[in-house]
Amino acid sequence: MSAPSSGFAARSLQTEAQYLKGVGPRLAPLLAKAGLRTVHDVLLHLPRRYEDRTNLPPIVQLRPGKFATIKGTVRDFEGRSARRGGVVVLKATVSDGSGAVTLVWFNQPWITKRLAGYDGEIIAYGLVKEGSYGYEIHSPEFELLGEDDDPDAFAKIVPVYPLVEGLQQFVVRRAVDAALEGYLGYVEDPLPEAFRRRHKLQKLQWSIRQVHHPESEELRLKARRRLVFDEFFHHQIGLAMRRAETQLERGISFGLSSIPDLRPEVERMLPFEMTAAQSRVVAEIWSDMESHHPMNRLVQGDVGSGKTAVAAAALLAAVRGGYQGALMAPTEILAEQHYAHLHRLFDPLGIRTALLVGKQTAAQKKKAAGAVARGEADLAIGTHALIQEGVEFQRLGLVVIDEQHRFGVLQRLALREKALGNPDVLVMTATPIPRTLTMTLYGDLELSVIDEMPPGRLPIKTWWKLPHERASVYDAVRKLVSEGRQAYIVCPMVSETEKMQAQAAEELYSRLSKKEFPDLRVGLLHGQLKISEKEEAVDLFRAGEIDVLVSTTVIEVGVDVANATIMVVEDANRFGLSQLHQLRGRVGRGADQSFCVLIADAKTDEARERLDALVGTSDGFKIAEIDLRLRGPGEIAGTRQSGNLDFKIADLIQDGVVLEAARQAAIALIAEDPGLKRPEHARIRERALRQPGDTAVIASS
Ligand code: ADP
Ligand code: MG
Repeated sequence: MSAPSSGFAARSLQTEAQYLKGVGPRLAPLLAKAGLRTVHDVLLHLPRRYEDRTNLPPIVQLRPGKFATIKGTVRDFEGRSARRGGVVVLKATVSDGSGAVTLVWFNQPWITKRLAGYDGEIIAYGLVKEGSYGYEIHSPEFELLGEDDDPDAFAKIVPVYPLVEGLQQFVVRRAVDAALEGYLGYVEDPLPEAFRRRHKLQKLQWSIRQVHHPESEELRLKARRRLVFDEFFHHQIGLAMRRAETQLERGISFGLSSIPDLRPEVERMLPFEMTAAQSRVVAEIWSDMESHHPMNRLVQGDVGSGKTAVAAAALLAAVRGGYQGALMAPTEILAEQHYAHLHRLFDPLGIRTALLVGKQTAAQKKKAAGAVARGEADLAIGTHALIQEGVEFQRLGLVVIDEQHRFGVLQRLALREKALGNPDVLVMTATPIPRTLTMTLYGDLELSVIDEMPPGRLPIKTWWKLPHERASVYDAVRKLVSEGRQAYIVCPMVSETEKMQAQAAEELYSRLSKKEFPDLRVGLLHGQLKISEKEEAVDLFRAGEIDVLVSTTVIEVGVDVANATIMVVEDANRFGLSQLHQLRGRVGRGADQSFCVLIADAKTDEARERLDALVGTSDGFKIAEIDLRLRGPGEIAGTRQSGNLDFKIADLIQDGVVLEAARQAAIALIAEDPGLKRPEHARIRERALRQPGDTAVIASS
């Protein structure tokens, strides 16, 4: 489609907002403050809600506890700063003939400028409360009717836009209407009609108009779906193209089909039978390893689902296929644990393992790196030390990255680059993240889910106790220890700095070992200990020679001691939901009943919700959903990756279904037209190839 009138250049959606009719250089900076710099931004600035002004209830019908919109005349404004406990309180009385209501603002002195001396009509929206002298609406949103020339002042159903301080509704409405009027016709629909029909999508221009001025709720939802779909779709197209590219690259085929003994060997090697889920995931991995294209697979499995065994099966296959494997873990403790574990499994098979971690002496490192470089070690297990310069592999074929969420994407790539050619890459993550996030963050990876726990596990019993009940918690610890079990006690989160955190652990350790449990063997673990001390603590705990391990969150990831059956978290309200779930995952790893006690004095609703969630479910995916709702996607993904999650319109929490549809549509389209070479896909292609950081959702020609 070209511009409506040929011969003229199409009007660009990148035009600055100040050139919109009725905006100008005076109002533009206010719009910019709300992120509305261009026509594009304005067109996609969606209303937060809509107000039906056709039948506003009379003031006399207001009921406390409900949100309401009222319309009336300002009778009285108390513009003086009535101070109530240091707070500036402003009040306006509004009446409509049927009754009166008081609008109240706290600490918003700028309201005075708009209301002092105003005696016209006002529309206000907010929660109705019972005040001492009748009903009040606190901190309402409001508009002065007829002010300047609000295009929608007297409209029936009006959009209400998100604002920033100093920006008024009518300014946004005017800008939006000017943008619709002057530019909507130039918006190009990148999706061809056949595609739209197949995926039940409305036209783009129609959708943009509808979201601002919906004819009905039903049409508004259809319109919004189209915009959300577009945003997800264009992101997913990029991922699907990247995936398709990897599939075209040539990788290693490990020739597994000619090693008939592989599965029996895994079965002999592991001390237990794999769960059906583990077997299925191993088959998926092996099938990728067999193919001539590089594997890029994410294994998602809740804490304790048995990802290590899956990694071991993959590593064994790599070695039997004639290559080296590498396993990278985010902490030294975890790397060493993996090393000990894998060494135990592989040594009897004649497979040689090497450990590479930062704390090793130069001589140790040199020795390990030498073995890896000469191919004397078949497997290298370690931390970031693996991706440091000077570490070279003789024939690296498989890279496994454990607890992927702790690493950035770059580190994932760095280890890959240690191989000649394209190694197979397997990333494992224990933080089950909601499916919507998985699809956005890892949409370029194939996904395997271990959705089953090893048999015989009893669900962990979780309690939330108040600080004054601490004594009874310690009694429970003592009782379990007397039965031969072990305990973790995680110290309060006092600070982000390791040093202060270590101090908190020391204090708790000293109190517990002297006062509460002088007769028990209490150990201490935190990030500031010398390496040998850390190692000793973990070793002693593993060997059952420590009863109670006082620790910081360094034990959050991976530590695996089946005899530990109680996890006590002090000041649990200070931890995030997923973090608490990870901590809880340290127990319940054997056949005995395990317990998790969260000691917390939750002061906010959010903290209460978090603690209730943990008590209520042990399903990591459910917890992840709740976490996403409470914290938002950026927080969960970590700042490193949150750039991917910057959606303007789409909402990862609400719009999971549309995301799934967009993902399927993207995959199908790339399968049908891999390079998006067909003319009707040119616009989709153009957008997919745009520079990263170009966040335009719609375009003009
Ligand atoms: P995660 O997925 O959290 O990394 P691990 O691999 O550490 O879990 O496994 C948790 C515990 O479960 C370990 O003690 C491991 O030996 C055990 N385990 C794993 N798979 C099975 C299985 N199929 N049957 C019995 N125990 C298993
Ligand atoms: Mg693990």
